[in-house]
Amino acid sequence: MEPIRIYDTTLRDGTQGENVTFTADEKLKIAMRLDDMGIHYIEGGWPGSNPRDVRFFDLAKGENFNNARITAFGSTRKPGIAAEDDINLKAIINSETPVAAIFGKTWPLHVESVMGNSLEENLAMIGDSIEFLKNAGREVIYDAEHFFDGFKQAPGYAVETLAKAADAGADFIVLCDTNGGTLPHEVESITASVNRRLKALVNHDDVLRLGIHTHNDCGMAAANAVAAVNAGAVMVHGTINGYGERCGNADLTTIIPVLSIKMNRPCIPKEKLCNLKSLSRYVSETANIVPWNSRPFVGHSAFAHKGGIHVSAIMKEPRAYEHMNPEVVGNQRRVLMSDLAGKSNVEYKAREMGVDLCANGCDSKTIVKTIKQMEEEGYQFDVADGSFKIMLEKFTRQFNPLFELEAFRVTIEKDKDLPCSAHATVKVSVGDVHEITAAEGLGPVSALDNALRKALANFYPDLDVMQLVDFKVRVVDGRDGTEAKVRVFIESRDKDQIWSTIGVSEDIIEASWQALADSFQFKLAKEAKQMNAVSQADTNEKDLKQAWSMPCNA
Ligand SMILES: [Zn+2]
Repeated sequence: MEPIRIYDTTLRDGTQGENVTFTADEKLKIAMRLDDMGIHYIEGGWPGSNPRDVRFFDLAKGENFNNARITAFGSTRKPGIAAEDDINLKAIINSETPVAAIFGKTWPLHVESVMGNSLEENLAMIGDSIEFLKNAGREVIYDAEHFFDGFKQAPGYAVETLAKAADAGADFIVLCDTNGGTLPHEVESITASVNRRLKALVNHDDVLRLGIHTHNDCGMAAANAVAAVNAGAVMVHGTINGYGERCGNADLTTIIPVLSIKMNRPCIPKEKLCNLKSLSRYVSETANIVPWNSRPFVGHSAFAHKGGIHVSAIMKEPRAYEHMNPEVVGNQRRVLMSDLAGKSNVEYKAREMGVDLCANGCDSKTIVKTIKQMEEEGYQFDVADGSFKIMLEKFTRQFNPLFELEAFRVTIEKDKDLPCSAHATVKVSVGDVHEITAAEGLGPVSALDNALRKALANFYPDLDVMQLVDFKVRVVDGRDGTEAKVRVFIESRDKDQIWSTIGVSEDIIEASWQALADSFQFKLAKEAKQMNAVSQADTNEKDLKQAWSMPCNA
């Protein structure tokens, strides 16, 4: 079966999405990651349209790509001039990429009403431009813009434009759903019909290779791409995370696993699939866009289980509530703690965190009840793994406090028009030693964080690698106005992990302190565990195995 070529346009069509921008250097780094993934074509940009893209192609010249062919994008020549005089086409040649992708018009509405051009000249523009690029030794990919809309208005002419491209030597002819308004059944039947009609029209015996380029305006971009593959397309265009104009392009993080796992169509090497989630994350981090949790296959929630019945079933047999093994795409199964938490969720999560719920004669039923009660009060443990672990340790009397708070004081000052300033004093004890420190901060929580950090630094010098990366406050129930309960959520990270903690109180400082203290405790416990890791490794594994086989007494 012919392999499907994956054509990535994150760096060109992707950057047409709102809030998506990359510098030339960032583009190069993304291109290297795409290459490593085994993507066949990387459309780097439109050299005729902006200097940043010209710079990207300059940078790309100096790199070795093992799998991908770098592609420069542009349009067919302008009406009424020779291809060799067209600035756009020249810019493509100057970018020195092995592949050129150019788009041309299919839809008479665009040719005549928008551009004021004639249908004949449009055909000549397509033929001349492709010939020019072929004569310059390029592999040419022809994008038939608005193909499906054009085909619906004038099927004969639409196919004629493709025949022109094929006769001029285009290596791939890509049907574009530029406006994103076409539905999968239409894409499938039109693509199949084009395949048949084109063969009859073209004047050479070379293999005709069709591609598909879809947009997500009806939420159908991925489905449309798959429909076209079913009808014979062998190249799929898309972007990582579906970034792109308006509602985005077809999302390659969906299409690649669908083709590879669900349809068993060879595309990228199967052993590379496990890098898909990290590639998705890398691109969203670079674009500085919060990753979409429910993104199929690679989203944080894609294999997350909340309902108790689901969890007890997946503990027996993951296939019961999972359409595939999450690890194949580099994702993982997660069990969420929530008000739906059943006994199995807690057991599963505890096991994942290495906490033995049956330790010290504890009863997991009571623990579940308490968790539910706390969630009633505003805690939300599915977003706070760090606090959840600490809480489980406390419930099962396995908690080992690595510091204890004696007291803290926070003061805020506001002077006329000057911004507020915050000062915190913290008194903690570690073992028998007491420590008092003071610090300033941009706000009360930052002052507390700084003071606590300073106090603990004397005991735990490695703390400086830990950072607070996110701080969110939410009113749990707004009915009590300023006396309402708030939930504070803190996300922290060090060089190899991100963890989240939570605090709930009517007092925002108290809630913040709870989340902050849990965050430090989590980090310190992690450090302590790593210190003991080598000597403990064998014992821990034995304990964990025992935890699996040991029935809880609940
Ligand atoms: Zn597009």
